[in-house]
Amino acid sequence: SDTPVTVIGLGLMGQALAGAFLRGGHPTTVWNRTASKADKLAAEGARPAPTAADALRASPLTIVCVTDYRAVHELLGADDAALDGTTLINLTSGTSAQAREAARWAGRRGARYLDGAIMAVPPAIGTDEAVILHSGPQADFEAHRSTLGALGAVTYLGADHGLASLYDVAGLAMMWSVLNAWLQGTAMLRTAGVDAATYAPFAQRIAAGVAEWLPGYAEQIDSGSFPAEVSALETDVRAMAHLIEESEAVGVSAELPKMIKAMADRSIAAGHGGEQYPVLIEEFGRPSTG
Ligand code: NDP
Repeated sequence: SDTPVTVIGLGLMGQALAGAFLRGGHPTTVWNRTASKADKLAAEGARPAPTAADALRASPLTIVCVTDYRAVHELLGADDAALDGTTLINLTSGTSAQAREAARWAGRRGARYLDGAIMAVPPAIGTDEAVILHSGPQADFEAHRSTLGALGAVTYLGADHGLASLYDVAGLAMMWSVLNAWLQGTAMLRTAGVDAATYAPFAQRIAAGVAEWLPGYAEQIDSGSFPAEVSALETDVRAMAHLIEESEAVGVSAELPKMIKAMADRSIAAGHGGEQYPVLIEEFGRPSTG
């Protein structure tokens, strides 16, 4: 726990990261473009560096967490020498292509580079609830695994630097889909005087129940075979038509159910009506038409 670390970028997330390292007993150097954001951390024992290059040189491991990759390049681009021999872990959110490009860029400057993604809000940092994903060379991750453990449930995904970003957006897709489905149902039930709080625990059980299906459905996807063990896609599509009809009848948006049905209709048109729902992976697996 006495391994020194540097945190660059002290926004809401960066301050939480630096605070967790301090609480973990790590000598922590910090730098932020707006210097005053280091004041609170300095009072807690962090060492503010005068420049980003000084901050990079202060520790063998530097965590960067700023708004976007453009900011990463802006703030690290000025002084190549400071990157030589250091390990850089970039926890800034972005795309897999940005992550892979940043890895090449850091490599050309002599740095070891891991990309990461934070699937947590700042107050959760430092607890097991904070899921923090890493991708890049495994040896570089293992060298710092115990230090990174101060931040939360630290996970290594694989050597491809783009993986952390891909898992990050996959998680967002899940989050919004569950929330949107819940909002659709809530909007319909409210037309009958059922308030959101009454429906929420019911919806919670359905979401948890559906989540149980994922591993079995994943086996169908991975094997490329979709026998209708529970229900055929054409049965699901008839229920989708009910959902659309009901939404329209009670005067709530049918936008989302129509979009989902359009995908399922395409799959049926391609001959998959007798197969099970996960066969839709073939529709999800190609560029959108609309
Ligand atoms: P903030 O807006 O609070 O902080 C942004 C930080 O980026 C500040 O330190 C800012 O410096 C710095 N910055 C922006 N542009 C530049 C630049 N050109 N040069 C130098 N520094 C720059 O954002 P967060 O801390 O909340 O988010 C940071 C990252 O963490 C984002 O990628 C975000 O997606 C990710 N994240 C955040 C979560 C959250 O709940 N907050 C959750 C999961 C991920 P300055 O203070 O000088 O403006």
